[in-house]
Amino acid sequence: MASDEFISRRHFMGLVSGAIAAAGVAGSAAAQPIATKARIVIIGAGAAGTAIANRLAMRLEQASILIIDGRRDHIYQPGLSLVAAGLRPASYVVSRTSDWLQPGVKLIEEPAVAIDPVAKTVATAARNTVPYDYLIVAPGLVLDHEAIEGFSLDLVGSNGVGALYAGPDYAARTWAAASRFTETGGVGLFTRPATEMKCAGAPLKHTFLIDDIASRKVGAGRYKITYAAHADSLFSVPIVSEKVRMLFEERGINAVYSRVLKAIDPGRRIATFQTPKGTEELGYDYLHVIPPQRAPALIRQSDLSWADKWTDQGWVEVDQYTLRHRRYPDVFALGDVAGVPKGKTAASVKWQVPVVEDHLIAAIKGKEGTERFNGYTSCPLMTRVGRAMLIEFDYRNNLAPSFPGLISPLEELWISWLMKEVALRATYYAMLRGKA
Ligand SMILES: Cc1cc2nc3c(=O)[nH]c(=O)nc-3n(C[C@H](O)[C@H](O)[C@H](O)COP(=O)(O)OP(=O)(O)OC[C@H]3O[C@@H](n4cnc5c(N)ncnc54)[C@H](O)[C@@H]3O)c2cc1C
Repeated sequence: MASDEFISRRHFMGLVSGAIAAAGVAGSAAAQPIATKARIVIIGAGAAGTAIANRLAMRLEQASILIIDGRRDHIYQPGLSLVAAGLRPASYVVSRTSDWLQPGVKLIEEPAVAIDPVAKTVATAARNTVPYDYLIVAPGLVLDHEAIEGFSLDLVGSNGVGALYAGPDYAARTWAAASRFTETGGVGLFTRPATEMKCAGAPLKHTFLIDDIASRKVGAGRYKITYAAHADSLFSVPIVSEKVRMLFEERGINAVYSRVLKAIDPGRRIATFQTPKGTEELGYDYLHVIPPQRAPALIRQSDLSWADKWTDQGWVEVDQYTLRHRRYPDVFALGDVAGVPKGKTAASVKWQVPVVEDHLIAAIKGKEGTERFNGYTSCPLMTRVGRAMLIEFDYRNNLAPSFPGLISPLEELWISWLMKEVALRATYYAMLRGKA
């Protein structure tokens, strides 16, 4: 390890525990609670919904804070990349939603099925109508697996097919298929969709990790990896895209551009891609599928989506700095569902939550909030087992390193790997509790 890369284990743990301790202090140093009878409804108890519910419960007295979610389990999604590389079991990412909520938050354990932003009500699956004064929509996004002809989640794990986004069990099955490839070799084909997507680094992480493992198991010359990019670059931030291109070149990973997975023929092990010049078929021994991603139907049917942007995806029409709806000021969007140009990561949620908290509490007081979300997005881009680049950027594609001078964003470092493997989950859970 080069001396300028070297940061001791002790130093790292000091950094992490410092960050977590600071998170705890931030929670306890909160301002005086505000008395209000406001009815606040939050749709979705994932990263964003749970964090904002707990933050509001700490700030408000006597408010009604209802969070609606039909899923009992909470999934720590950043861990899915580790599960799909055989580095963690599926159980590593699963906890109970109800265990994260502060006493002041009431959970309705049903999905929301309709939003009426004029009447200011939400309907739940059991036909309850819940009125609100303020609504925070945080239902994440949906994976449109059906958009890929011939693909079915039943294929994952035993047909040379992986799909790590689909959940903990599918991530484990993805590893079952990928690990066979790392032992027998052949052609590995890695894809990503052309829609907006959460953690756009995840398709690259899977490619890098499976290449690294294959290089040590089956060995060079016995396998070939191709990464199919949906556009003419490998990442939306140009400097990161260029760095990834250079790493691919060094490692002999083949990149093809403007190829979007359209169909698969699992029997023949052929993937069909849409290209600017028509369709193209590529064979595979291992194929990683990440499907198109869209706002849930609930949002697309609610008059909350942009009418002239992302029209096939339906993200919520919010101001990109305040996350407040542009036509319905009592509505905010948080997390993956928000129609902003960047920010579909849990790290973005961490910076979005205080913004919505500020504007919502200001509204309760009859004032205007002042906090702004700058598009902060973070992606610990794992490049080998034990090495990662801690990529952080904002709306303007500026790199926004959290540890300038200490962690270099475009270098493959052990400390950046530990940030993903150790620190991210602790920080994520502190955020869920409303403490970070
Ligand atoms: C493979 C992978 C790797 C990732 N890696 C990273 C990473 O390294 N770093 C990082 O910062 N981020 C990462 N992310 C992204 C991060 O996990 C998401 O951006 C984050 O979870 C978004 O939070 P959210 O609350 O918007 O959505 P989610 O956490 O997905 O939660 C949405 C919730 O809404 C609920 N819901 C859905 N529909 C309804 C409905 N109709 N009614 C009520 N509830 C509903 C769901 O049940 C769910 O509980 C990764 C994601 C994946 C998939």
